[in-house]
Amino acid sequence: MVIAVYPGSFDPVTYGHLDIIYRASSSFDQVIVGVLCNSAKSPLFSGEERVNILKKVTDDIPNVTVKQFDGLSVNFAIENQAGVIVRGLRAVTDFEYELQMAQTNRVLAPNVDTIFLTTSLEYAYLSSTTMKEVAAFGGDISKFAPPLVVEAIRDKMNL
Ligand code: ADP
Repeated sequence: MVIAVYPGSFDPVTYGHLDIIYRASSSFDQVIVGVLCNSAKSPLFSGEERVNILKKVTDDIPNVTVKQFDGLSVNFAIENQAGVIVRGLRAVTDFEYELQMAQTNRVLAPNVDTIFLTTSLEYAYLSSTTMKEVAAFGGDISKFAPPLVVEAIRDKMNL
């Protein structure tokens, strides 16, 4: 049985993340989405809120679970008996950082491999940061994330 973890900030989840989650769920027996709650970052949504949103938008995928974690992704993988870390690659700009992280992680945990899924073309431009910026200026974000997420952003930003 191959268990994969998909770590990230997910502040909040977009259709780009969901696309990776769906595709990973058909390649691995179990996918654990790891919501990174690093105290150095100041997210729009708390860790608990991000986990709850992700649970709701993935509850139709039986082999996906969502957990909060802090610290290193490799440790999160090891704690969950996962042999694979999944990351999404959007553009060349993602590549250098992701390659460095994957190589570092391999030194830290040689039994955990990083597997990259390239983004589906329709979501290549999409990031949580851009989505939040568009929302803050009153733009329509319904093409970027599920209705539940759009609603949560509106509530959080008092829009
Ligand atoms: P992080 O802060 O760790 O980059 P993110 O929540 O921004 O966390 O992203 C988590 C993962 O999802 C990363 O691997 C990122 O490259 C990937 N990702 C983000 N947006 C997209 C997208 N639109 N398409 C595919 N992958 C994406």
